[in-house]
Amino acid sequence: MTLTRKEFLKTSSLIAGGFFLPLSNNFGRMFQQSAGNFKTIRDNVGIYTEKGGTIGWYVSDDAVVVIDSQYADTAKHMFEGLQKKTSRKIDMLFNTHHHGDHTSGNVFLKDHAERIIAQENCKALQEKSYGGDPAKPQAYPTATFKKEWNQVIGKETVSAKFFGAAHTGGDSVVHFQNANIAHMGDLVFNRTYPYIDSNGGGSVEAWPIVLERIINYYHKDTIFIFGHGASDELVTGSMADLTAMKNYLSALIEFVSAEIKAGKSKELIASAGEIPGFGDLKERWAGARKMNLEKTYDELSAK
Ligand SMILES: [Zn+2]
Repeated sequence: MTLTRKEFLKTSSLIAGGFFLPLSNNFGRMFQQSAGNFKTIRDNVGIYTEKGGTIGWYVSDDAVVVIDSQYADTAKHMFEGLQKKTSRKIDMLFNTHHHGDHTSGNVFLKDHAERIIAQENCKALQEKSYGGDPAKPQAYPTATFKKEWNQVIGKETVSAKFFGAAHTGGDSVVHFQNANIAHMGDLVFNRTYPYIDSNGGGSVEAWPIVLERIINYYHKDTIFIFGHGASDELVTGSMADLTAMKNYLSALIEFVSAEIKAGKSKELIASAGEIPGFGDLKERWAGARKMNLEKTYDELSAK
């Protein structure tokens, strides 16, 4: 089933909080018995939200693909939900980047997945950030790529692509080409202040440039999955949301840059009540705006 973006929005708003599309095999009804929240977006592709970064999935009789793994307990809930549809193992588990709320569930899923795939920097950053900590058991990618990974699986073609360092040093976008749905990982915090990870290879200045590449690469009809959003409804969206994120980062850089030139201190700059034009942005955690201003100050003044 293919819907235009307009039809998709209409359908999803009509069935808010439930399933976007009626499914022929009671997949949706069975999913709703799970601990978290499954939503079908279109075709055999959907999302799972419970705790941490949004999980993307593709499930059919001939292929199971999962993108990101949240935490061990919620990954188990997600997998139990998938198993109500198919007894098939996960053919491919992708990690969009190394952060713990996207990779900690690898430990549970590794026994149920043929392989775990990530961009090579993602694996290195996961090892560096969490390796050797007994409190944080890890399962690392078993296959990596540098620029791009492409694979036909079942009736889908999955591609994962690295567009450069942005949120971290190893972010990739994973695209289900036939369904035309792309998981952005944390390259978009939709309508909310992003987490900026300078120690993990991220860059405020590179981020909008990377988003511009992504905007030019995908199609206006592509539906995007976001790691985080200001609300549950905002973890999926369109190209307009990528543009909004890019514009926010550009405005942040412009604002901090002008304040530095005006001779203001880091403390004064970081105390700003809003970034001009983005006063309605939500904080997902207390101090998020201050953190954005401080990280941007550090990056710009280090040059
Ligand atoms: Zn992240």
